[in-house]
Amino acid sequence: QRYDPDAPVPAPPARSEGQTTNPRPLTRVEISRRIDEFLVSNGALVRINDAGRELGQIVAFHNSTFDPSKVVPTLVMRNEDYGRLSRILADGTVVELEVNIVNRLHPEGRTAYNVVAEIEGSDKKGEVVMLGGHLDSWQAATGATDNAVGCATVMEAARILKTIGVRPRRTIRVALWTGEEQGLLGSQAYVREHFGTFENPKRDYFLLAAYLNIDNGTGRARGASVFGPPAAAAVIREALAPLADLGLVGAAATNRRALGSTDSASFNAAGLPGINFEQDPIQYESATHHTNLDTYHLAMRDELLPRFDKASMPALAGSSR
Ligand SMILES: [Zn+2]
Repeated sequence: QRYDPDAPVPAPPARSEGQTTNPRPLTRVEISRRIDEFLVSNGALVRINDAGRELGQIVAFHNSTFDPSKVVPTLVMRNEDYGRLSRILADGTVVELEVNIVNRLHPEGRTAYNVVAEIEGSDKKGEVVMLGGHLDSWQAATGATDNAVGCATVMEAARILKTIGVRPRRTIRVALWTGEEQGLLGSQAYVREHFGTFENPKRDYFLLAAYLNIDNGTGRARGASVFGPPAAAAVIREALAPLADLGLVGAAATNRRALGSTDSASFNAAGLPGINFEQDPIQYESATHHTNLDTYHLAMRDELLPRFDKASMPALAGSSR
């Protein structure tokens, strides 16, 4: 069967009447919480997690309780080192570790900030097209591919629009979100405050034309996922058609309102037209996503939004050149 982008989005499979379900297995977070409770109540000094990735990759997260009394200091050890310790222990040899963890609490730093800028529209300036990505990242590296490249892409798009002096009809607003990694906190707060939800809309709910999001690593955008009916995806497909020579192949509709994955979900969850770009994977899942390797050297600049070269760069708006 051939994929038809205009086909209605299938409904999720219905659970049949009277069907018995097994008790839900614990999620990873729930298992981790129980381990923490066990370690705290038994006076453990430190928790050591197996990084569980190859070649020294480390994924370091945070204390999801945000309460140091509920979690013992935790370190993530390279799989190769963790495996060696496990083998020595399994051999019956006592292992002694010297651990030096310095944690600092910043109780005054409870507020994080979104960064928002806009190019004002003209005859329809009350209506808004938004684009964005998240500015926060994980601590094991600098977050080059998650999501500095996304921020750079939307900033560059805004810079080009500004430089060529477009007078858009609708206001174009760029947002660099905070707290994405802790649960889309910045974008959810923004949507709540400015737009409300489909069920409980604020005035501006009806003034947002679309929100375009980029957050899938250093690879080139290849297609868009559009929250809305198939007709919405058709509009975006048409808009993207001139970019087909860059390998941007189209758009498909989604009706998922579940939170998760990335900031466009905050808009989708409210019933607003969130658009997220799917990108070439490059080394995102295998190496850089949330790891200690997510630094500048694995961001591939050539895969980002193509730039003007020196000869074709338009003059600065307002300059006499
Ligand atoms: Zn991200």
